[in-house]
Amino acid sequence: MALIVQKFGGTSVADCQRIKNVVSRVTATKNAGNDVAVVLSAMAGETNRLIDLARQVQSRPDPREMDVLLSTGEQVTISLFAMAAKEMGYEARSFLGHQIPICTDATFGRARIEGIPNEAVRQVIRAGGIPVIAGFQGVTSLGDITTLGRGGSDTTAVAVAVAIGADICEIYTDVDGVYTTDPNVCAQARKIDRISYEEMMEMASLGAKVLHIRSVEFAMRYGMPLHVRSSFSDDTGTLVVEEDESMEDILVSGVTYSRQEARITVAKVPDKPGIAAGIFNQISDANVVVDMIIQNTRQGDLTDITFTVPQDDYETALEIVKRVAGQIGAEEVAGDDNIAKVSIVGVGMRNHSGVASRMFDILASHGINILMISTSEIKISCVIDEKYTELAVRALHEGFGLDQGPARK
Ligand code: ADP
Ligand code: ASP
Ligand code: MG
Repeated sequence: MALIVQKFGGTSVADCQRIKNVVSRVTATKNAGNDVAVVLSAMAGETNRLIDLARQVQSRPDPREMDVLLSTGEQVTISLFAMAAKEMGYEARSFLGHQIPICTDATFGRARIEGIPNEAVRQVIRAGGIPVIAGFQGVTSLGDITTLGRGGSDTTAVAVAVAIGADICEIYTDVDGVYTTDPNVCAQARKIDRISYEEMMEMASLGAKVLHIRSVEFAMRYGMPLHVRSSFSDDTGTLVVEEDESMEDILVSGVTYSRQEARITVAKVPDKPGIAAGIFNQISDANVVVDMIIQNTRQGDLTDITFTVPQDDYETALEIVKRVAGQIGAEEVAGDDNIAKVSIVGVGMRNHSGVASRMFDILASHGINILMISTSEIKISCVIDEKYTELAVRALHEGFGLDQGPARK
């Protein structure tokens, strides 16, 4: 007998029939003698539909009101699930974020969870029922509704699992696990049986949207095992767990891509102390997270600074940089949001040299120019022209041997 959190994504609860199917899956787990808490996403497409509505009435939607709007998607699925469970003879109780409460900071649109009391959920479980919790949403200390960022229901699930001391958190989705790359982009992608938290965290942060990055951070911090699997089959999926020795045998575990980035260049800036601080302090004050940064020295006492930001923050960052450019004496500001970042990830890279040059060779042999590079112990990322994204992903997948044989033994 185990205590299990089961999270179902948008495709798994896309209509009433699928919600009934999900109820059957949850009750089967319960009938096998386990206790289950459920976390649900909104129906597939609903969050996008709500974002479109907001944009029809306000060009840059107010963040607080946006979160009030976006949180409605999950309210629909949890109530329908609870009704369907009751119809099948089970006791279930739905919970919105503020009813648990899922306490967050006040960063609307990407709030961070600060704490979750477990009493409400535990009480339902003790009484033999199924708690059904809205994913993606939380509440601030002042009672404002927040959301955790796109894909944030995964994070709700892991945080609830940690809060109630669950044995495992199961993430049910529309693919049957974590793949060596996005299976929708590369037909040769293969399911990974086991992956370390660290690799999964890199893959999530570099674009593999199968798991929300903060869900993996939570899981790693608290040692919560994750099982990513399909809602539509009973097959075992991918276990995200502590690293073990066998994982180091594989050089590259996965290839990821992200089109959600933009690049800004501040050119011909005086090369003197305080310039970078002048630019980046103001960007961080606006809550924009900068990813890669490179600086090239020009002739004379001039330098160019190029950096990337999330595409959603591109306009904000560009406005700030244009304003700061005048103050610091920069001659030009240029931006480009037709870029993509392709990355390779693997703990095996720690003890191998030559991985980066192999990556550059593969991209070059396909005529793909590298615009920026960044590396860490277990990943290498290259920024390229967006139009080459899929070509680059497939070339790297093949070039590092991921097309063949099982990725993990
Ligand atoms: P859910 O709605 O269930 O949360 P998501 O759409 O957020 O599902 O995540 C699942 C999707 O993630 C898959 O359909 C797939 O296109 C995408 N994906 C990207 N990279 C990977 C990967 N490496 N492995 C599996 N899926 C991936
Ligand atoms: N419904 C939210 C989204 O589409 C949260 C989630 O599905 O995880 O981003
Ligand atoms: Mg998701």
